[in-house]
Amino acid sequence: SPEDRYVFRVEGISKSFGAFHALNDVSLEVSAGEIRAIIGPNGAGKTTFINIVSGVFGPTRGRVWLDGEDVTGRPAQHRARRGLARTFQITSLFPGMTVAEHMHLASRGMDADGTRRSALLHLTGLEALADREVNTLSHGDQRILEIAMALATDPKVLLLDEPTAGMSIAETDRMIGLIQDRLRRQVCAVIIEHDMNVVNQTADQVTVLAAGAVAASGIPGDVLRDPFVKELYLGS
Ligand code: ADP
Repeated sequence: SPEDRYVFRVEGISKSFGAFHALNDVSLEVSAGEIRAIIGPNGAGKTTFINIVSGVFGPTRGRVWLDGEDVTGRPAQHRARRGLARTFQITSLFPGMTVAEHMHLASRGMDADGTRRSALLHLTGLEALADREVNTLSHGDQRILEIAMALATDPKVLLLDEPTAGMSIAETDRMIGLIQDRLRRQVCAVIIEHDMNVVNQTADQVTVLAAGAVAASGIPGDVLRDPFVKELYLGS
């Protein structure tokens, strides 16, 4: 069946809040190892999309497929068990707890000897900070820790909600490097991102949402040059 070829797929997703149509017939699919960016001006429906995919609420119409399973009616915990992991726009770490303690919590008993946690701290460049309390980390290191935590359960699909929000140029470059060099081909990722430079340097495919519908889709080099897409961004 077509859904089996994709690690992640949404088909004909619509969402209404009362009479307001926040999403209208959105479809996209992501293959193993692919990084897909979703962009669009404020109000385009990006947050609504991520909430439907992660199971915060259901769509009005349409289906969500995860690794060949229809998870449309299933709660967030079920999706997490089936391999969906996400980060949030706002950091959600516990002040006073260390980086290592956060990784321990995030692995939820699935990594008794800590092998995977150590490997992830190494992969994300946080090894030297393992014993630091998270509130003493830079904003960039905190966001990178959240990605390491999301990877701790060995997910199939990683949802990143504006991973470079609030970052300095240097921190953004580090995040680009992490996604480009380390995440690529390990996991398939769906990234909500405002920064066109980040999209251009990390995404295999980009989907543009505008007023709740797919306005353009393709490789970043083509989509970001599209006059219609440029105008959407100049206007926002
Ligand atoms: P984006 O993340 O792209 O900025 P959102 O998904 O947050 O867009 O919002 C899309 C539209 O849906 C916006 O016009 C917003 O006001 C509306 N919307 C989002 N959530 C709700 C809600 N719970 N009730 C009513 N309208 C909502």
